[in-house]
Amino acid sequence: MHYHTIIVGAGPAGLFAAQALGQHRKSVLVLERNKRAGRKLLVSGAGQCNFTHDGPIEHFLECYHNQAKFIKKALFSFTNKDTMRFFESLDVPYQVFPNQKVFPKSMKSEDVLGALLKACQKGNVQIEYGQTVGQISIYDGVYTIETEEGKRYFSDHVVIATGGKSYAPLGSDGKGYEIAQSLGHTIITPRPALTDVRLRENPYKPISGVSVQNAELTLWRQNKKLTQYVGDLLFTHKGISGPVIINTSRWMEVGDQLTINYLYPKTYEEVRKEFSESLAQRGKEEVITFLKPLKLPKTLLQVLCQQIGLDEHTSCAQVNKKMREDLVNILTRCPFTIHQLGGYHIAMVTAGGVHLKEVNPTTMESRKQKGLYFIGEVLDIDGITGGYNIQAAFSTAYLCAQHLIKC
Ligand SMILES: Cc1cc2nc3c(=O)[nH]c(=O)nc-3n(C[C@H](O)[C@H](O)[C@H](O)COP(=O)(O)OP(=O)(O)OC[C@H]3O[C@@H](n4cnc5c(N)ncnc54)[C@H](O)[C@@H]3O)c2cc1C
Repeated sequence: MHYHTIIVGAGPAGLFAAQALGQHRKSVLVLERNKRAGRKLLVSGAGQCNFTHDGPIEHFLECYHNQAKFIKKALFSFTNKDTMRFFESLDVPYQVFPNQKVFPKSMKSEDVLGALLKACQKGNVQIEYGQTVGQISIYDGVYTIETEEGKRYFSDHVVIATGGKSYAPLGSDGKGYEIAQSLGHTIITPRPALTDVRLRENPYKPISGVSVQNAELTLWRQNKKLTQYVGDLLFTHKGISGPVIINTSRWMEVGDQLTINYLYPKTYEEVRKEFSESLAQRGKEEVITFLKPLKLPKTLLQVLCQQIGLDEHTSCAQVNKKMREDLVNILTRCPFTIHQLGGYHIAMVTAGGVHLKEVNPTTMESRKQKGLYFIGEVLDIDGITGGYNIQAAFSTAYLCAQHLIKC
């Protein structure tokens, strides 16, 4: 059979595009290598699926690093509110958390996947499981799609929705990049993103599980400041994690330096001035008591004192200038060296992918091959945590489908 459109990959991007085309009576086939659809979607948000973020859509533009220009049209054409309405219309009510993350009310990712599959079924979308697309060729305007299992399919249009490279056992292993390359596309070197930082010797191991709200991270490479970000920090048994680390990990390399200001929004200078004025006046008060109003976890303060060789029970009057400087430094410029970054097996998304210059941002069509499209994570798009990646999958899929409906 010859299809109007063949979609490679039954993740959120592929399924969303498929159901939209199905509603418009296009003959659509989805080829999925796994025995079932949306395996990554099922584990997303710890199985609860944080499928978008609330708030003004304009704020989304700050959440995709330097890819905002490309994704703007898609996000504004199918917004976070549209996503919420879409699932509501499919009997999946949602709830918005105080941090504006949006989840299905049931807190079950199966409900999100179930709704997408139901919408596909309604549009008579055909899904073939257990078919790993290996090669795609075009001759005389007709695409031939060959699978590693030995099957061949034909279509007028092909949508690559194969995802990134992280969590490969769930289905996305980077095969989509190879296919894109074979069809003339450039791939921005993929790397793990939304991952944690491992330390060589982890002095913070005893406080793993402790977190700090609104810490300010500065990333340095060879003494050059690369980026700065504010968010919650979590100490782990292997190093440091939490949104502030995870969301900046795409910029990090092994050997880079991080400095953390636990007292943000106060600056080093402000804390230095404050301590030089107040510490000596506290007389017999112990340092640990003096630090209490900072509202940092006591166990963290204890480890920080140990790190600079300051006995937490030292009286404030005994803290000399050097010790005071060390204390201010460790509280506002606490240094870390990246020994290792969490690999693809724990990275939630992949940075890099199909070069955005080679894809039309208003249709998701390849600028190299007519009739070829890229949607979702296979593109060189990665968002921060909070529902931005699944929203990007839906928004890019929507634009692509709107264009294909007219073809
Ligand atoms: C642990 C974890 C938690 C996450 N939590 C969130 C979250 O809460 N919120 C959020 O927004 N994002 C989250 N993400 C990211 C989000 O899940 C992805 O960005 C999103 O699934 C990407 O959608 P996609 O459709 O582009 O790709 P995928 O979901 O990866 O789907 C691609 C599909 O293509 C199939 N495929 C690949 N190659 C082939 C081939 N050659 N032939 C046939 N089929 C193929 C795969 O099997 C897969 O089913 C999380 C990711 C992980 C790993």
